[in-house]
Amino acid sequence: MAFEVEPNSLGLAFESLRALGVQGVNLTIPFKETAYDLVDEIPDDMGRALGALNTVVNKDGYLFGHNTDANGFLMALHEELAFKPQGKTALVLGAGGAARAVVFALLRAQVGKIWIYNRTMDRAVGLVEYAARFFPEADVEVAETPESLSGEKIDLIVNATSLGMGGPESTAKPGVPFDLATISSKPAVYDLIYAPSQTAFLKAAADRGLQTTNGLGMLINQAALAFELWTGHKEGVRETMRKAIGL
Ligand code: NAP
Repeated sequence: MAFEVEPNSLGLAFESLRALGVQGVNLTIPFKETAYDLVDEIPDDMGRALGALNTVVNKDGYLFGHNTDANGFLMALHEELAFKPQGKTALVLGAGGAARAVVFALLRAQVGKIWIYNRTMDRAVGLVEYAARFFPEADVEVAETPESLSGEKIDLIVNATSLGMGGPESTAKPGVPFDLATISSKPAVYDLIYAPSQTAFLKAAADRGLQTTNGLGMLINQAALAFELWTGHKEGVRETMRKAIGL
């Protein structure tokens, strides 16, 4: 069931989970950060480091918070692109909540180097600093522009901006983050967006013969991981979810 909650009523909604014995919920924008302060315990270090939760598990009125986005992304990267981050170089576009999950996931998977580019450079700098607090040895750097990386060997590009996202005219964000022709290497391209299923950026990447995938795999995996946390069941969950969304 989907519940629309007023932004200033999230605390009340969480108290209702306890009162009604709701076994668990999945959260999305704009609640992921606020939820962090409303649960009783965040058992895993990824959830604590990210400062944002997408899953709540209710055990007898005690609320556990989790973040399954980062692992959902890593699983999708493996399943959809057969990409192994260890020692590789990635360019992450964006510096919002999703970009943070992607950066942490890649660092946890021992990526060799991450470049971060964001329209608002201060936020990219902030993400680099934040990552350095948890992964002090990691090589994470701000890219002034994606074009400035033209001579670098990039193995993976992740679009974690909302640029390219569909929706009603008021919310749609047509366009591409940058011109892929400026990158000389042949990176795999992962776009976190899943609606539309092929963004203009993914199309441009496919036209250049690059390996591509959209955000549906991450969506399914983060949801399947949440389902597992609520119920303990993992057999067949992904397949059922894939069928439910028509894949
Ligand atoms: P967010 O926190 O609001 O961050 C949005 C990011 O997009 C920021 O870096 C922002 O740059 C950038 N941006 C927005 N409009 C732009 C434009 N016109 N030009 C250039 N950059 C622009 O959102 P989020 O939670 O990180 O989500 C980002 C995207 O990931 C969304 O499309 C969301 O649907 C997708 N997502 C997918 C999954 C999945 O399961 N597949 C999970 C989570 C998120 P500024 O800092 O300059 O504003």
